[in-house]
Amino acid sequence: MKKLKAKILENKKIGPDYFLMDLDSEYIVSHYRPGQFIHVRIEGNGSRPFLRRPFSIHSITGGDSFQILYKAIGSGTKILSHYKKGKNLDILGPLGNGFEVDPEKNSLLVAGGMGVAPLFSLAQCIKKTKSQVLTFSFLGARSKNNVLLESEFRRLGIKVLVCTEDGTCGKKGLVTQLLQEFLEQNPSFKKTSVIFGCGPNLMLKTLIKLAKNLNMDCQVSVEEIFACGVGACLGCAVNTRHGYKLACKDGPVFRGDDIIL
Ligand SMILES: Cc1cc2nc3c(=O)[nH]c(=O)nc-3n(C[C@H](O)[C@H](O)[C@H](O)COP(=O)(O)OP(=O)(O)OC[C@H]3O[C@@H](n4cnc5c(N)ncnc54)[C@H](O)[C@@H]3O)c2cc1C
Repeated sequence: MKKLKAKILENKKIGPDYFLMDLDSEYIVSHYRPGQFIHVRIEGNGSRPFLRRPFSIHSITGGDSFQILYKAIGSGTKILSHYKKGKNLDILGPLGNGFEVDPEKNSLLVAGGMGVAPLFSLAQCIKKTKSQVLTFSFLGARSKNNVLLESEFRRLGIKVLVCTEDGTCGKKGLVTQLLQEFLEQNPSFKKTSVIFGCGPNLMLKTLIKLAKNLNMDCQVSVEEIFACGVGACLGCAVNTRHGYKLACKDGPVFRGDDIIL
């Protein structure tokens, strides 16, 4: 992990409140693992916001550049959305542990809303290994306007299944139901696949229970609210079978069966 300056190459709006920022950093691109994140100092008026904000390393775009995908939901991300090309961002990274890929197993990537952000660089990494196993991406969102990256996953050669809570795109329902139905229709995947999930805590709980019931390997990236991001403030504790762990330092990726729900 290093404290770095990363130049903004582009910061574009790609949907309602959704932004894609291209950043230049040879260090991040050559040291990252999918599932890791950067911690960004956002300078607004005066010293606000005081704390850095975490963003997953979303995509590696070639050369020394990578992307973060973010939703402008609060004070920090709204300021970030106004940053212009050429500005240098003060970042710490890459931080956290990241996902572990088993090249012998199929990968089922399960995203709830913005949880799709780290799963895309995971998909890129799996594709790079050129292994013959299959990768499916299950994208769940509230509504059609919130479905992100469907065509980008397809362009990587990944099969995509979509669902929305209001039924305006794909199947109507929750992404965990979509996965469950898929596994009922394709039972052989239960033995041959690893589930990777990221999304709201409630979704991750359901995913972990589902994986446990089916005796499947599952890794989840938790979306805790961080303060320091480097394990100093103990503000993001996760209860695991090995005691309390810190999402920012020991995570954000945990084995599903390690988390105590
Ligand atoms: C490891 C990690 C990776 C992340 N990656 C991404 C990413 O790739 N893209 C992205 O858009 N967001 C990501 N997030 C969430 C992101 O950090 C928050 O959206 C951001 O900190 C909000 O800052 P803000 O100042 O705009 O909002 P604030 O003004 O601080 O908060 C606005 C609202 O958002 C809620 N909120 C703040 N942080 C979180 C959080 N972590 N989870 C759920 N609700 C939160 C607050 O409770 C509040 O209701 C990630 C979080 C973690 C822990």
